[in-house]
Amino acid sequence: MKIVSIIGARPQFIKAAVFDKAIKKRGGFQNIIVHTGQHYDENMSKIFFDELEIPRPDYNLEVGSGMHGAQTAAMLEKIEQILVKEKPDWVLVYGDTNSTIAGSLAATKMHIKIAHVEAGLRSFNKLMPEEINRIVTDRISDLLLVPSQNAMELLAKENLSDNAIFTGDVMFDSILFYQKMAEEKFSLKNITNEKEYYLATVHRAENTDDRLRLQNIFTAFSEMDKPVILPLHPRTKSKLAGIKFNDNIKIINPVSYLEMILLLKYCSKVLTDSGGLQKEAYFMKKPCITLRDETEWIETLNGNWNFIVGTDPELIIEKVKVNNFDEQKEYYGNGNAGNNIVDALLNYK
Ligand code: UDP
Repeated sequence: MKIVSIIGARPQFIKAAVFDKAIKKRGGFQNIIVHTGQHYDENMSKIFFDELEIPRPDYNLEVGSGMHGAQTAAMLEKIEQILVKEKPDWVLVYGDTNSTIAGSLAATKMHIKIAHVEAGLRSFNKLMPEEINRIVTDRISDLLLVPSQNAMELLAKENLSDNAIFTGDVMFDSILFYQKMAEEKFSLKNITNEKEYYLATVHRAENTDDRLRLQNIFTAFSEMDKPVILPLHPRTKSKLAGIKFNDNIKIINPVSYLEMILLLKYCSKVLTDSGGLQKEAYFMKKPCITLRDETEWIETLNGNWNFIVGTDPELIIEKVKVNNFDEQKEYYGNGNAGNNIVDALLNYK
């Protein structure tokens, strides 16, 4: 079976690594990897390919940053040419970025089947570009590979159940697989000297592009009772001029995935606006405070494991102080999502 996998952003490299491992175990697949170049910095892209042993992309479209329309259009044009040449059985797209929607749009117009990994997620906030990407991609995909039962229910409400298969979450497979490697390859003291700290990431446009929200987040972090380690996304870095904060905030460059797993393992709590990190906090049994007004991963809210706080400094600080949690449940499968995706592709009729 010939597949063209479209990836372009950090979380997609991690998800693609899980799929690539699963098909290699099974055999009989040809996986053509297309890197759109949406993320292109060494520490946002190359380091993931090296560390997670993802094959070098067969095509690199090098589209770079830009306005949504221009960026998506550049990808669309180039992906179409690749699909004409490669004639795959399937196009595989992941998550909710512009690479996801460009890949699925190019494929559907050419009547090539589309499989969407991490289908069915909704924030119900159409101001988020990611939400538009998810809705459109799910609507035109032939196979919806779904990480949670909640996402299955949301797809049912949109009459998309016929195409949907619960696979579990590839990010859960990934954490299980790479945790040991992280411990073997890295030691916390090479990343930070802090022994007790909160781990934070901030990169959503709704926070970086709104001065008040961004300042509020840094004000809250400045008032924390522990250091806050903040591997800073390039988008946020470019918006930091004029933002005031204390020196308990330890800004570092984006770290590799294995380093991130270690930082997660030893942190007290997680403060983030990332989708992936909310779940990883849950997988690693770390309480999470989500710096957004909604979440797609609503299961993580049960038992005080995650709080939606927006950017109100008082609320952020209040929720960081919560320390009673219920037992966790396994909402995201059993670490076999990669294999389940391979089965779903093989069994598709
Ligand atoms: N991540 C990483 N290094 C960092 C920050 C994040 O490896 O410096 C990982 C994180 O552990 C998660 C993924 O990147 O697996 C999440 O990506 P991101 O937050 O960029 O996107 P989102 O999940 O919000 O789509």
